[in-house]
Amino acid sequence: MKLHWQVLLSMILAVAAGLLLQSTTAAPSTTGATWSAVPGGLQLTAARGPAAEGGYSVGDMPKLAVGDVIVALIEDRGDPQASRVPLNAPEQVADRVAGMEPGTALWLERQTGDLVSIKLGLDPGCARAKWIAPFAFIADIFMSLLKMLIVPIVLSSIVAGVIGVGAMGNLRRLGTKTFAYYVSTSLIAILVGQVLVSVIRPGSGAELGLSEAPAGVEKLSLIEIFTRMVPQNVPKAMISNGDMLQVIFFALLFGTFAIKAGAPHTERLRDLFNSLFSVMLAMAEGILKLLPIGVFALLIKVVAQTGFSVFEPLLVYMFTVALALVLHCCVTLPTLLKALGGVSPRRWFRAMSPALMTAFSTSSSSMTLPITMETVEKRGKVSNKVTSFTLPLGATINMDGTALYECIGVIFLAQYYATATGFELTLGVQAMVVVMALMASVGAAGIPSAGLVMMLTILSSIGLPLEGAALLLAVDRPLDMLRTVTNVWSDSCGAAIIARTEGEDGPLTAGD
Ligand code: ASP
Repeated sequence: MKLHWQVLLSMILAVAAGLLLQSTTAAPSTTGATWSAVPGGLQLTAARGPAAEGGYSVGDMPKLAVGDVIVALIEDRGDPQASRVPLNAPEQVADRVAGMEPGTALWLERQTGDLVSIKLGLDPGCARAKWIAPFAFIADIFMSLLKMLIVPIVLSSIVAGVIGVGAMGNLRRLGTKTFAYYVSTSLIAILVGQVLVSVIRPGSGAELGLSEAPAGVEKLSLIEIFTRMVPQNVPKAMISNGDMLQVIFFALLFGTFAIKAGAPHTERLRDLFNSLFSVMLAMAEGILKLLPIGVFALLIKVVAQTGFSVFEPLLVYMFTVALALVLHCCVTLPTLLKALGGVSPRRWFRAMSPALMTAFSTSSSSMTLPITMETVEKRGKVSNKVTSFTLPLGATINMDGTALYECIGVIFLAQYYATATGFELTLGVQAMVVVMALMASVGAAGIPSAGLVMMLTILSSIGLPLEGAALLLAVDRPLDMLRTVTNVWSDSCGAAIIARTEGEDGPLTAGD
């Protein structure tokens, strides 16, 4: 069975099993306390004993006197005011804490205004927690495997790419045009994504049941973002996927100076980084074979904890990505194709259909590359000089669909955290997302789900927990298929436009 069918099957099975778990097992009461309404707030009436006794582990509960009136619940986000939820009904407490991970620190605000901290503990003896535990374990390992790839894959792909481009010194004019096309279409794609996600706001007020708090992010101005891009200490930038912008900056510089270093170093480094990149790619492909298992574990955990409601915002998010991709494919790129290349978009689309269908079914620009080259050359009548230069480059660095998706995915999660926890989605953060989405799309390998791996780098750069990406991964495959089509479509349009500006008239006769 093809991987995407496997993933689809595991998504369906996980949702069914998750819903079954939700309806057949008792919900763990995560507060370990029972509440009753009193005028002006809630009253804590009882707290169960420690986890060892089959009850709940409740951290500093003794500090709360029975009879205390609680007026607000605050998740420990560093800034209590930002995540303060006033409480009026016991159900609100239950709602609020449902789906939180065990161990989340909470603050309860007493009527007197002082705060008491408690730690949530799921009842480890509760049937649902027991059922979820092995899946949570698999999901965690799968996410760690993906995170493990980030630094080496980004570093090797960028260095190998830069040296590869630089080595084609005699193709400078072609290179400049190609590069200009890649950067500008990716930027337009990101802006389309930004506008749509800001208008539709799929993440605002969403119930995603994510519990990890965003790291305290400093508010950075644009200048500071650029200043921070320059690493003082390279290994430090690579530690714990912390500063991907710095890693990317270093990789770009390293690649550039590897070219300047001249023979024999350039060749040696090119070979070295190409090999490193090939190994990382193989490793990524190996790990992604586990995708159906990873998706199953991630989804079952989410559905069993939060039920079906989590899908509502996710569907809106998927719709936003799909709409933005369609706009980019059907409006932006055809307009450019017509205006800059004088090629009929309809005929070009028809001519490109074998490549686009392959992209859709493989979710991989790299795997589609041979078909793309063949299609653009044979059916599109573009010269081999242009295709052999632009398409291999495009398959790894020109990813409009991925760029747009990165932007929407990150802003979606940021919107969620903005309403759920008071994370501030400032202009600086948004600008950072645009820059990072562009870089991430350049750094992403042309393999399935690479975009999602790169999204982790953006999330960590703006201080959002990577946990959210696990949720997006669960529904990633259909979006991956669509964005890969967009990536390949943009590569092919680029080849036609560049061929036309080089004086070729082949592409006009395309669409046999
Ligand atoms: N699958 C995409 C591609 O190969 C990359 C991505 O995950 O966005 O083009």
